[in-house]
Parts: sequence; structure tokens; C-alpha cells
Amino acid sequence: MTNVPEIFGNMVFNEQIMKARLPKETYKAMKKTINEGLPLNIDIANVVANAMKDWAVEKGATHFTHWFQPLTGVTAEKHDSFISPTSDGGVIMEFSGKELVQGEPDASSFPSGGLRATFEARGYTAWDPTSYAFIKDNTLCIPTAFCSYSGEALDKKTPLLRSMEVISKQAVRVLRLFGNTDPHLTVKTTVGPEQEYFLIPVELYNQRKDLIYTGRTLFGAKAPKGQELEDHYFGSIKPRVSAYMKDLDEELWKLGVLAKTKHNEVAPAQHELAPIFTTTNIATDHNQLMMEIMQKVAKKHGLVCLLHEKPFAGVNGSGKHNNWSISTNKGVNLLEPGETPSENAQFLLFLAAVIRAVDVHQDLLRISVATAGNDHRLGANEAPPAVVSMFLGDELNGIIESIVEGKAYDQHEKVQMEIGVDVLPKFPKDSTDRNRTSPFAFTGNKFEFRMLGSANSIACANIMLNTAVADSLCEFADRLEKASDFNAELSALIKETITAHKRIIFNGNGYDDSWIKEATEERGLLNLRSTPEAMERFLDQKNKDLFLKFGVFSLAEMQSRHDILLENYSKIINIEALTMIDMARKDILPAVTEYIKELADTAIAVKQAAGVDAAFETDLISKLSKLQSDIASRTQVLEDAVIEVHEIEDILAQSYAYRDKVFVAMQDLRAAADTAESLCSAKIWPFPSYGELLFGVR
Ligand code: ADP
Ligand code: MG
Repeated sequence: MTNVPEIFGNMVFNEQIMKARLPKETYKAMKKTINEGLPLNIDIANVVANAMKDWAVEKGATHFTHWFQPLTGVTAEKHDSFISPTSDGGVIMEFSGKELVQGEPDASSFPSGGLRATFEARGYTAWDPTSYAFIKDNTLCIPTAFCSYSGEALDKKTPLLRSMEVISKQAVRVLRLFGNTDPHLTVKTTVGPEQEYFLIPVELYNQRKDLIYTGRTLFGAKAPKGQELEDHYFGSIKPRVSAYMKDLDEELWKLGVLAKTKHNEVAPAQHELAPIFTTTNIATDHNQLMMEIMQKVAKKHGLVCLLHEKPFAGVNGSGKHNNWSISTNKGVNLLEPGETPSENAQFLLFLAAVIRAVDVHQDLLRISVATAGNDHRLGANEAPPAVVSMFLGDELNGIIESIVEGKAYDQHEKVQMEIGVDVLPKFPKDSTDRNRTSPFAFTGNKFEFRMLGSANSIACANIMLNTAVADSLCEFADRLEKASDFNAELSALIKETITAHKRIIFNGNGYDDSWIKEATEERGLLNLRSTPEAMERFLDQKNKDLFLKFGVFSLAEMQSRHDILLENYSKIINIEALTMIDMARKDILPAVTEYIKELADTAIAVKQAAGVDAAFETDLISKLSKLQSDIASRTQVLEDAVIEVHEIEDILAQSYAYRDKVFVAMQDLRAAADTAESLCSAKIWPFPSYGELLFGVR
């Protein structure tokens, strides 16, 4: 039996360890740095580094690395050993404060969207002391931010940390107006990301170039069974998977990740793991770590963990639900309806801030989840639609309507809710969480943003959310700080804000076609169905104004992110197209040819032996010959499209062309090949089938 409290965080240089191993004064300085974001002087950094090194070496570490999150979306690390030569030809293990605080990865091959070329060739990494160092693979990993020497962010963490500061500052202004005088008051956003994934046997994975090169199946006829019986969701977990999950939990616990809930998901072979929520930057680091450890542990169990958003056609893809809230440093959740009229007025103001943020910046929320992989899910009746809307639940909706229209907010009395006077009813969590089709749902004391793809870093979504809500809070504080009658102004502000932005609230079924029509035609909401459409909006004046105002992105950083994300989209489709061409020519067409020959040989033999007409064989030969020529010609069409689209220089135009020409040609090719698969003998087909991959059926 594992003793969980004993192993939990035993690979983390956390507060307990710091307290035990650092001199008292150093520990105090370190805590101040963590809690208040104050810089650490080099003498203290030296002491901390040395203690970290001693601890890490005792745990078997030989190397250290600055662990960071470049714009590729995965984490990066470059390992240096602790060794330092001595005069007698030996080595000692050393780690200095300077090495802890700052690193210089040779970063020229990370995407920068032209940032480093225009500013400074090198980038550097800077320690984020609010996220603990940890040991992975005998290496001490220091969580860091990654910037250019001119201060431009080259990673996802720097703007995330900036956005956290921005929302804290604006929320504190608002809380002051409600009488909070705590001199140390800060506000932080918290996140609990639920992570979905697929597990398949490694020996099958190794037989599929599409999975190896692209993470998803590019061909594959549907199995007779999919997820229609809904018998997998929360179903009992198979022993092999269960052993995997157990091992995974333990590895994550050692790293201080609060792995909590695990279950089977809707699609066959699909599962979910949710941690307990924590501060946003730590949740982001932990989610990156979780994705990495999920893949690593799978290998030990002869499995492969697929994090792609849509590994299999015909069954659900994988997403990530970003549960988000905002609380004070004393742990008071500002999205929790309170016990007193004043607390509830404050709750309603924060709620109004989120409603305004999601409406005004719906484009940014959509952009934050835009990737080639996620485009397969959004709007495909398995994930939220591409239209951003908010679900508040009946009770909260009743309150909102009462505020706006003077309707009764409960069934008993027909009185209008009076802000600052009335106490809100407590909403049970269950009553708010029924709508699974909403992109952005209130679930009792937090919002659940459900549009993220399973492979996305959660950084982008939270940068957008934090900044968008900070924008609302800033506008509110500007107005309320000037008010002569605070309560009257507050009531007017809440009512006006909700009235102006209630078009974003939708409590119905998000999968309904009529909703998309209503959303776009009557409510004027955006329906950005693909990554190029979404990214095209990123550089709109509204967004530049927002990010520059709060200093979350500079103009150059926005431009570089825009370019990198669009290029990434195009590159992914390009790799997928080339993989399909390769599989069609080298594997699928030869297999069909071989089967046709086998059928022809059989037909001749049957005719000779028995004088019958071999109708089955000849009929199948003609069907397969037709499909074979379709596959060949469609492969050619796809190849021509790839060559044509390559020539386009404008990256936005190119991404649209990948979507409209290359991706369309890919689907045509797939249709012909999948039909051929369904007609060919299983023995001859060159790749494991969907039945094998998802159900283990040969
Ligand atoms: P469900 O599947 O019903 O959405 P789960 O329990 O799987 O619920 O996930 C809910 C997630 O929300 C968990 O990660 C949980 O820690 C997180 N969560 C709970 N409270 C907060 C909060 N105040 N801020 C952020 N996340 C929260
Ligand atoms: Mg959820």
C-alpha cells in the first residue's frame, strides 16, 4: 500500500523542505518573494541554490534545468550537470544563485515569430519562485519564464504572470470600494483543469504512421460499434488501464500535483484525470507536467497516451475543462455568493464583470483555444460549439432577470432583487451544472471554460480570461471610485452591464442548429469555426488596445503570437497531408492491388475448377478497382494542393488555403480509402483497424 501523504511532494522543493533546510532569515526572505513577488537578492539566491542542490543530490539528481514553456506549446529543458572540476582532477557538485535565478538556453530554434531577430538574438530564462522546483529523471527542474534580452516574452508563462498581476490589481481596487482595508490584500485566479486522453496499446500505435507523425488517425473505417451505447462513460476501469492510472497518480503525487479524480470518458479507450485546483501559474505548470508524465507512464505499461484533440473520427475527441475562479489571498472565493447583502452585491459585481468580459472578448476566448486539432471538435456536436456563450443556470438566471426586468427571482414573492439589500439564495452545485453543451458555464462558485483542446496549454485561455475580466473590473472601479452614492451607482452599474451584455447568456442546448442561427443572426455573436477565422481577429484594434493598456502583450508580442499560431496551423495540416500521401502510395494502394490480384487469381481458379462465374470476386474486383483509381487520383489532387499552397507567402492567406484546399482534399482521399478498407480482407489491410485500436478486436 502506498502511503500517500508520505510520497506526496517528495520530489518537490516545497515550503516544508525550505523551512527545514534553509536558515531562518533565508526562509523568511524566500517566503516574502513567493507571497509578494519581491525580487531575491543574490546572496539569498546563493543560499537557496546550495540547499536545493544538496537536497536534489540526496534524491539522486545529477543535473539541473531551467524548465520553460516556449510557444511550441510543449515544455522545454536543457540539462546541465552540477559538476565542477577540482584542482586534484576530481569534481564537486555545485549550483550557484546565479544559475538558479537566470539561464541562457540556446534558444535560436524556438519559434519567436521574428521577435528575436528584430530585438536581440538571445533569450534568457528567469526563475518563477512562486512555482516550486522539482526533480524529474534525476534532474532538478526550475520553473522559469523565457524572455528576450529586450524583455519581450518568448513563452506562455510571462504573459500569464502579467495577466495575473493585472487582474489582482483591478480586483483589489474593487474590493477596496467594498471596504476591504487589508494592507496585504492581493487577488489570485485559481484553475482546476480536467484533462481527457486516450490510451491504446503501443504495438498497435507503432503500426500507424499517422499516429506516430500526427497524433491522430488520418485513415480508418468506423468500427461496427462506437460510443452509442454510452457504456464506457464512468464504466468500470479495465485492469491494465487501472494499473496505469494508479501508477500515474503516484508519479504525479510525488511531483506535488494534486491528482484527484479519474474515470473513463464517453469514447471507448478514453479517460479523464482532474487535479484539485490551485493558483493559475502553478496549475499551468502542473498541467504541462501532467501531460508529460501521462505519456511517460503509459510507455511503462505498454500503452501510448494520445493527447490529440481528435485521434479517431466518429467518436468524441478529447478536451480540457478549465475551471476558473478568483479569490483573495485569504482564500475568499469572489465567485461564491455570500451570506450578507454586501457580500452578495460584491458577488454580483464580479459576476457582471465576467459576463461583460465574455461578451466583449468572446473573440479572444475562441482564439485562445484555436488549433488545427481543436477545430475538429468545436461545433462538431461533441464539444461546445464554436460560438462562445455563457450558461448561468436557472437560479442565477432568475436573479439576473429580476435585476434587469423587475421580475421575481423566486417563485413565492413577486419582488425585484435589490442589490445591496437582499441576500441571494445559496445555489446547490448540482442545479448549476446540468448543461454540458455550454462553452462557459457557471458551476456554483467558479466558471468552467470548456472549449480547450486536450493538448492545449491552459496558459493562453487564462491569459485571455484574466485580462478580459481585469478590463471589466478596471472599467467598474473607474466608475465606482467617482460615485457620490456608492450603492446607487453600484446597482445602476450592475443593471446596465447585465442589460448590455446579456446576449452572451444562453441556457439552452448549444448543439441545436437553431441556437447557432439565433446566436449569429439575432444576437450578433461570433461564430469563428476555424483557426484562420479566429486568428484573423487577434490583431483587431480592440484587442491591441486591451493588451497594451494592461501591458499583458506588447504589439510585437501580439504580432509574433499571431504569426506563430497561424504557421503552426498550416504546418500541422501540411504534415498530415504528407503523411496521408505517404500512407496512400506506400501502403494502401499496394495493399488494394495485392487484394485485387488475390481475388483475380481466385476467380480464375474457381472458373477453371468448377466452371462457375466467380461473381463475388469479379464484382469486388470492379468495386476495388474503381476505389483504387479514386485513391490514386485523390492522392495526386492532394499533392498538387500541397504544392500550390506552399507558394502562398501571406501566412493568413496560406492558412485559409490549407483549410479550403488541402484539408478538403484530405477528406476526399480518406473517404475513398476508408471505403476500400471496409471491402478488403482484414489480413491484407496494412494498419490496425479502429476495432483493434479502440476495442482490441482483430
Ligand atoms: P465536473 O466533472 O463536474 O466538472 P470535477 O470534479 O471533475 O467536476 O472537476 C471540477 C474541477 O474544478 C476540479 O479540478 C476542481 O478542483 C475545480 N475547482 C473547484 N473549485 C474551484 C475554484 N474555486 N477555482 C478553480 N477550480 C475549482
Ligand atoms: Mg467538468
